[in-house]
Amino acid sequence: MGTPLEPRAEQATEVIDRLEEAYPDSTISLRYSNRLELLIAVILSAQCTDERVNKETKHLFEKYDGAEDYATVDQDELAEDLNSITYYNSKAEYIRDSCATILEDHDGEVPDTMDELTELSGVGRKTANVVLQHGHDIVEGIVVDTHVQRLSRRLGLTEEEYPERIEQDLIEIVPEDDWQQFTHLCIDHGRATCTAQNPDCADCVLADICPSEKGDSEIDLAAGEPW
Ligand code: SF4
Repeated sequence: MGTPLEPRAEQATEVIDRLEEAYPDSTISLRYSNRLELLIAVILSAQCTDERVNKETKHLFEKYDGAEDYATVDQDELAEDLNSITYYNSKAEYIRDSCATILEDHDGEVPDTMDELTELSGVGRKTANVVLQHGHDIVEGIVVDTHVQRLSRRLGLTEEEYPERIEQDLIEIVPEDDWQQFTHLCIDHGRATCTAQNPDCADCVLADICPSEKGDSEIDLAAGEPW
């Protein structure tokens, strides 16, 4: 078991410093070429890997060009175009509804405020944060996906369980300049080393400061249960 730094803000800064060294090119892995494509890719990525989403959007973004195309296509046709994605029926509906709202209320442009974004169908705070950060260069919060959720708990940065509460804890301790990058670093480390089922603690750059480190910690703080 590693020994986390105190206070938590110091632990957060050390985690960021080490992960930045390990993953110097860390960034969003979804592919898109404009804000609407970004919004659609993020909606599709819920409970689905970025790799699969990128594969599917390759042909999707060739076929559909702009909010009107999505808002006017038949539900069954769009769902069929997304059929390798998890929950493709619901996601097709979210995309059609969101694009209709974008056309009606926002002159066809993806809105740039948290309130307006979260009013779109299928768009929660996490999706809105990604769109604000990467589509509009507005960093209002920290994107808490499954990797951020797991690593923040394992590393003793939060004891909260739900994304919105975890985000509030992280906002208190992660320097504002790092809010965006913190997510990408957690995602890269979560994929490469600190995986959900079998983290490679023996080869982890955070082992000595991680209270969940498997060497001699019996508890995975992410789950709150024994390894
Ligand atoms: S891989 Fe192990 S040591 Fe590294 S952050 Fe995850 S749980 Fe902690």
